[in-house]
Amino acid sequence: MTSYIYKFCPSCKTELEERLLGGLVRKACSSKTCSFIHWGNPIPVVAGIVERADRIILVQSHGWPKDWYGLVTGFLEMGEKPEDAIVREVKEEIGIEASVASYLGAYPFDQIGQIILAFHLIGATDPIKLCQEELSSYKEVAIKNLKPWERGTGPVVKEWLASRGLHRPFLKRTPITKA
Ligand SMILES: [Zn+2]
Repeated sequence: MTSYIYKFCPSCKTELEERLLGGLVRKACSSKTCSFIHWGNPIPVVAGIVERADRIILVQSHGWPKDWYGLVTGFLEMGEKPEDAIVREVKEEIGIEASVASYLGAYPFDQIGQIILAFHLIGATDPIKLCQEELSSYKEVAIKNLKPWERGTGPVVKEWLASRGLHRPFLKRTPITKA
């Protein structure tokens, strides 16, 4: 999941220029005959705290440092409800059925231009089948040992733990050194 910095208009291929629009500097098409503006609005993604047997399933995407794990996440398909999207993503990424227990809220992930719609789900006890295309590893962490991390889906975990009276500081993780 990456955000893109556009240089050219996706509609007419003209170079984009910076323009002050709606109180912020945006990239807009420099052609007089084209009205394209890259508003850079955040893209919604869904994330799930998948719980089963007092454990939470965390996943690792390809290319992440070895100590990085996060929640199951994914993009919405057009016309799909967020609660359906997270159930589909859990099935696709870790191969188990899950049902939504509650909606946890919306969490901005400004660094990559996303807004995370977070859910708590109860997962079935079937064996995990990892989606090899997207994920390199997973682990099931007992809630009593679960610690949040600072970026991405970490704040979802922090607040969910706090709602259960478990106030825990963010984990220190290896920073990403290569771009
Ligand atoms: Zn254009």
